[in-house]
Amino acid sequence: MKPSTPHRVFENDRTDVLADKIAGYLIGTALGDAVGFICERQPRAAAWAQAIAYRNGAAAQTSRKDKEGAWKFGQISDDTVFSRLVLRHIAKEKWVDGAKLAHEFLSHYNTHGIVGTGGSTRAFFKALDKGKHWQEAATTSGGNGAVMRAACVGIVFPKLAHAVEAAWRQAMVTHDSEEARAGAALVAAIAWRAARGGEEAFDIADIAATLAHTTTWRGLKNASMKIPHALLCDPERGRELMLGYIRDLDVKPDKTWDLISPYAVTTAVWAVYSHLYAMRETNGLDPIELAIETALFAGGDTDTTASIAAGLTGMAIGYERFGPLAKRYAELLNDRGDLLLDDLKAEAMEMAEMLSPRPTKTHGMEDGTGGHSP
Ligand SMILES: [Mg+2]
Repeated sequence: MKPSTPHRVFENDRTDVLADKIAGYLIGTALGDAVGFICERQPRAAAWAQAIAYRNGAAAQTSRKDKEGAWKFGQISDDTVFSRLVLRHIAKEKWVDGAKLAHEFLSHYNTHGIVGTGGSTRAFFKALDKGKHWQEAATTSGGNGAVMRAACVGIVFPKLAHAVEAAWRQAMVTHDSEEARAGAALVAAIAWRAARGGEEAFDIADIAATLAHTTTWRGLKNASMKIPHALLCDPERGRELMLGYIRDLDVKPDKTWDLISPYAVTTAVWAVYSHLYAMRETNGLDPIELAIETALFAGGDTDTTASIAAGLTGMAIGYERFGPLAKRYAELLNDRGDLLLDDLKAEAMEMAEMLSPRPTKTHGMEDGTGGHSP
């Protein structure tokens, strides 16, 4: 059922505060994508080398070559593009209309192309192009193509149940499988918490309650319920425990990927863990850096895990609170020369205005009460 009050979460936030959270989400997603894109599908050691390069400031000189082209650092891929398209769709429709969203994806793909589009999503576009109904065109695979773009629902919907349903609905557009819906719901539920920010959003007991409430699929429940345990351990032991849980979880292991295959459930669990770890263990470090570094630690589908982890973290802290290094790297973001940092910032403001219940005049008001009093 479509929510009757499709207002944004932040009823008391000014539009510029909401814009900062959305910018944190979009730019975090793009930055994690760009960093992880360089070492996607490489062995874990290569992904870890990229994490070290990030910390040293040397990641800006890294690059990638594949059958689609030669890419300098900063290039974003499907993870960012689809995340933007879903957010824009929901901001406009105030809900998820599967048929419309399917054709918005297709239209963007046909007009601009999307770097790094996965096999299932490409097959979906082919079928849709031939006139198949969008629900029949969707793959039944458990790939992570729908998980990578689910987080924005956390910003939009006041009720957790609506955020989760919207995550399911957007997942079904390309990936009509239990795994894809479950992975998308996990990301959505944690996003819903992250969007609220504040320390209480990261309390272990509350996180555990949210996980128990929203992770319906057994395979995912087993692994995601281990996240609170890992977060309570010393950092190194916690990470190793999580890696062990992920190894046990990969019910359809793809041996050509080192550890995190592009599978909905492994991706969702590792990305959510990386985000929560970053928010709880910061110790003065930039949470964005820590989220990306932790995502890369496991290797595999690093552009997707790092983009989800950094997108969730960006949503929680807002773009203004990104560290100086993350902001320097963000200057290099682009999609084949388009979609620069300023475009992402402008888009965040546009989305915030679309999601505001009514226009607000906010400039110069610093007490947080401006704009919404009756
Ligand atoms: Mg990608």
